[in-house]
Amino acid sequence: MDWLDGNVIVLSAAAQGIGKASAIAFAKEGAQVTATDINGEKFKELDGIKTKVVDVTKKDQVKSMAKDFDYMDVLFNVAVFVHHGSILECEESDWDFTMNVNVRSMYLMIKAFLPKMLPRKSDNIINMASVASSIKGVVNRCVYSMTKAGLTKSVAADFLEQGIRCNCISTGTVDTPSLRQRIQDRPDPEQVLLPLQRSKKLRLCTAEEVAHPCVYLSAYVTGTEAIIDGGWRL
Ligand code: NAD
Repeated sequence: MDWLDGNVIVLSAAAQGIGKASAIAFAKEGAQVTATDINGEKFKELDGIKTKVVDVTKKDQVKSMAKDFDYMDVLFNVAVFVHHGSILECEESDWDFTMNVNVRSMYLMIKAFLPKMLPRKSDNIINMASVASSIKGVVNRCVYSMTKAGLTKSVAADFLEQGIRCNCISTGTVDTPSLRQRIQDRPDPEQVLLPLQRSKKLRLCTAEEVAHPCVYLSAYVTGTEAIIDGGWRL
C-alpha cells in the first residue's frame, strides 16, 4: 500500500513547474489527484492524472469545481504571477493583478474547499510561498514578496482544534518554464542566469525537489514553513 493511497488531492496551477511535479509525486504515492490550471494545453504530460481547466481568480469556477468533491485530503495552492520591479515600478494595476492571482485565489480556494475538509478533521492545506517574502528581501520582487508573506499560519491557528492543518513551502529559485521565460524576457538573459547558477556555488532547485517536501507535509505537520532554498537566504 502506498503512503497516500486513496487520498483526494486538488492542486491549482499544476500544468507546469512545481505544481505539475507535485501532482506527479502525489499520484506516485497513490493519491487520487485532480490537477487544475488556467492553461489546459499544457496538461498532456500528466498521464493518468485527472485534469481540469480552472481559473482560480474566478469565484464561480472555483465554487463549481468544489461541488465535484464530497471531501478532500489535501488542497495545494500554487497559482502565481511574478511581477518584476520595485515599488516604484509597480503600478496599481500590477499590484491588484498580482494580489488577485497570488492571494485572492488562495482565499477563494480555501473558502470553497475548507467546508469539505472540516467534517473529517484530518486534512491539509498547502500554500506555495517563497523565500522572497518576510524571510528575505529580494530586489525587484516588491508585490510578489508581499503576496508570499502571510495567510498560512493564521489558517493553521484558526482551524487547529478542528483537525485542519495548513503549511507552506518557501523555495529559492526553482528551474521552471516560467523562470526560464522571465529570464529570456530580460535584455541580458545570460547575465541573469549565471549568478543564479553560480553564486555561493549553488545550483537552481528542480521542481521535483520541491515536490517531495509537499508529499512530506501530508503527515502530522501544521503551521510550518518548509524552506527549500539551498541556503539562498543565508
Ligand atoms: P510557473 O510560473 O511555472 O507556473 C505557474 C502556473 O500557474 C502556470 O501553469 C499558469 O498557467 C498557472 N496559472 C497562472 N494564473 C492562473 C490562474 N489564474 N488560475 C489557474 N492557474 C494559473 O510556476 P512555478 O515557477 O512552478 O511556481 C509555482 C509556485 O512556486 C508559485 O506559487 C511560485 O510563487 C512559487 N515559487 C516559485 C519559484 C521559482 O523560482 N520558480 C520560487 C519561489 C516560489
